[in-house]
Amino acid sequence: MYLVFLGAPGAGKGTQATRVCEKYNIPHISTGDILRANIKQGTPLGVEAKKFIDKGLLVPDEVVIGLVKERLGEEDCKKGFLLDGFPRTLEQAEALGKFAKITHAINIQVDEDLVVKRIAGRRMCKCGESYHISWYDKDACQKCGEKLYQRDDDKEETVKSRLEVYKKQTAPLIEYYKQSGVLYDVDGAQEMNKVFEDIVRILDDND
Ligand code: AMP
Repeated sequence: MYLVFLGAPGAGKGTQATRVCEKYNIPHISTGDILRANIKQGTPLGVEAKKFIDKGLLVPDEVVIGLVKERLGEEDCKKGFLLDGFPRTLEQAEALGKFAKITHAINIQVDEDLVVKRIAGRRMCKCGESYHISWYDKDACQKCGEKLYQRDDDKEETVKSRLEVYKKQTAPLIEYYKQSGVLYDVDGAQEMNKVFEDIVRILDDND
């Protein structure tokens, strides 16, 4: 299975993607995670990407397309993959279509007010786990014990521009994948386990 996860920031893409990849044993490719790792290591790509990420803007298409193309060319992607946070523009979707055949685009739907609440309370661990202050009030990660932090771009002023960017540039991809006949909507406002069950049902029923 060759999957794309669509949804606004805070829709739960990362959380669900981690679980889906564990279940189906496919690589989880998150462009956001790759870019953040580059920022942390101070690579030229990271330095360039940070300028956009800090403003809540998208990193230029040619940069992310090159990065994903290279990653999908690796051996572990031959039997399947899950793309989380890519594509985010029509140009990216069209480029992706030239080097991969997407079998399912899972669209995690969540209203804007819920997304804002989720992002404001989101806390991350560098191991990749994410939490929400409404159900987890400790400072350390349950899995690895590292101290949790808030992503810089989860702060209120950046969230607004990320949502605007989503509406203008990424939401049109829903129609794009609908036209391709591979779009599946999931109600992302449901409890986390229920969202996961719905995704699994879609993938198992439309193999
Ligand atoms: P995410 O972790 O997916 O929310 O991504 C964090 C930030 O990384 C986004 O707000 C963008 O600035 C950048 N980014 C991630 N994926 C992409 C992409 N496919 N195209 C452009 N920018 C991206």
